Amino acid sequence: MELNICHLYPDILNLYGDRGNILCMKKRLEWRGIGANVDEVSVGQRLEAKKYDLLFIGGGQDFEQEVLLPDLRGEKTEELKAAVEDGMPVLAICGGYQMLGQYYKTWDGVQCDFTGALDVCTVGSKQRMIGNYMFTCDELGCEVVGFENHSGKTYLGDGVRPIGKVLAGYGNNGEDGLEGARYKNVFATYSHGSLLPKNPQIADFILKTALARKYGAMELKPLDDSLETAAHDYMKKRLSEK
Ligand code: GLN
Repeated sequence: MELNICHLYPDILNLYGDRGNILCMKKRLEWRGIGANVDEVSVGQRLEAKKYDLLFIGGGQDFEQEVLLPDLRGEKTEELKAAVEDGMPVLAICGGYQMLGQYYKTWDGVQCDFTGALDVCTVGSKQRMIGNYMFTCDELGCEVVGFENHSGKTYLGDGVRPIGKVLAGYGNNGEDGLEGARYKNVFATYSHGSLLPKNPQIADFILKTALARKYGAMELKPLDDSLETAAHDYMKKRLSEK
C-alpha cells in the first residue's frame, strides 16, 4: 500500500512550518508500513492531479498569492477543480485555502481571481487576525489547535460547510464564529502551526480518507501519540484559560 502525495508550490507557499504537514503524513504512513511518495509541483511544472491520492497546499502572504496568479490560471486551475469534484482529498492551509476559493480581494484593493474549486470567497480587511486559536471539528467530535495569521476574511458559499466552530481566536472571518471549509474531500483551514503534528486525529482522518478512496475502507493501526497529545493538550489548556 502506498499514497502518492502532491505538494503544490512547496517553495512559495510554506508559512509557519506548513511543510510539517507533509512530514507528519509521510511519517504516520511509514510507521504503519505504508509507502508515501511526495512529488513537489511548483511554478512552470504541470500538475497531473490524476497521478495523486492526496494534495497539499500551504499558506502564503498576499504577495506570493499575487505572484502565483499567472501560473495558477489555466491548466492548474482546471486540474484542481476536476480533482476536487472527483473527490480527491485536499488539505489546504490559509493562503492555499483562499486560493481554492473563487477570489480574494486584498485589503489594498487587488482583485485576485483564484481557482473556484471551492465556493468560498475572501475579502481583505485592515484587521490582522493573529495568534494561537482553537476550534471544533464537528465531524470527528474533537478540538483542533493551531496558529492563524491572516487579514483575509473568508465566507462560505452554499454547499460548503465549516470544519467547526471557533472556541478561541478568529477563524474564517472573526464574525460568524466558523472555521475552515469542508467540501467533498477538501479539508481547508486557516490553521498553520503545523496543523497535523499537534492534531494527530486530523492527520489520521485525512490519511484514512485517501487510503479508503484508493483501497477501500480500513482501520489504521494505532500509534503512540503521547507526545502529540501532550502538545495538543497543552495548547488547549492555554487557550481555555485565556
Ligand atoms: N495572504 C493571506 C491573508 O493575509 C493569507 C496569509 C497566510 O497564509 N497566513 O489573508
